[in-house]
Amino acid sequence: MARKSEDKIEDKLLEDKENEKKPITLEDLPGVGEATAEKLRENGYDDIMTLAVASPKDLADLSGIAEGAAIKIINAARKFADVGNFETGEEILKRRQEIIKLSTGSKNLDNLLGGGLESQSITEFFGEFGSGKTQIMLQLAVNATMPEDQGGFGSDVLIIDTENTFRPERVIQMARAKNLDPDETLRRIHVARAYNAHHQILLAEKAADIAKEFPIKLLIVDSLTSHFRSEYVGRGSLAERQQLLNKHMHDLLKFGTIFNAVIAVTNQVSANPAVFFGDPMTPIGGNIVGHTATFRIYLRKAKAGKRIARLIDSPYLPEGESVIMLTEDGITDGA
Ligand code: ADP
Ligand code: MG
Repeated sequence: MARKSEDKIEDKLLEDKENEKKPITLEDLPGVGEATAEKLRENGYDDIMTLAVASPKDLADLSGIAEGAAIKIINAARKFADVGNFETGEEILKRRQEIIKLSTGSKNLDNLLGGGLESQSITEFFGEFGSGKTQIMLQLAVNATMPEDQGGFGSDVLIIDTENTFRPERVIQMARAKNLDPDETLRRIHVARAYNAHHQILLAEKAADIAKEFPIKLLIVDSLTSHFRSEYVGRGSLAERQQLLNKHMHDLLKFGTIFNAVIAVTNQVSANPAVFFGDPMTPIGGNIVGHTATFRIYLRKAKAGKRIARLIDSPYLPEGESVIMLTEDGITDGA
């Protein structure tokens, strides 16, 4: 079969780059001139790896190039990028040994999670309004800023706030309860309000830029699904909603893997009339959210500040429940 001249150019480029050991830039890709490169960078496709794993449709939609051209660019990027390789079990074990765990503030809940929220994974907390999702997110944020010798990450935190429920006053209360300097704690928490689903997606894409400036070991999205739920209503828009949510979840997971960070998200429930036995509340987002979140915790209200946290669908931990308490000082054990 005749090889296309483009392929030859790419092979040559690859060879040259290997010899020179110069990093390959977007402009090195066939068909990418200065203007296209600029457009791509504006839309978050700022390195070869990001392009290599992009979907042609996303790339075409976001940067305004034709889908055919997008496919060509992606294929070229794949040749340069080290993607799609198999890892040995040993390599995966090594990566997993780097996993760090973040305390929720409740020892019971930490134990249920095998020691806390894991980096390189997405942990989802879902439950009704007032079940304590935001309280747990704020506590996680405070805990992540704590020094390592006190069980924290000594890191900065990113919060994507979609419901305008971030309260610095509450963070101050929780920080004081841990004998932390509240001002210092607030300085380490970076909050971005997301005004709609697309804005939320964009903020997650840009998170990597902030992580280059600050040591971010915790990324929170509170709530993951509220914008998607209100903007994509009805059967006709379900496919699009799920596609966008899928992309968003994978962006978050990628951030967690690259930066060895914990990803914590919240999700609402809706009454599912098809369930006649057991609890009829099901999380929003369906299979997409369910399959991408590694750990899912269902929060139920109980008496006097208590909440029941139930771990479901974990890949390697047994299902189980623990009781936590929402107090003035933050999250503690409930019993
Ligand atoms: P969700 O995000 O799931 O809708 P929240 O995390 O906002 O729910 O939880 C709200 C609940 O948190 C309140 O009903 C109350 O029980 C508890 N809470 C909030 N602030 C405090 C506080 N300062 N002291 C004690 N409990 C609080
Ligand atoms: Mg909330």
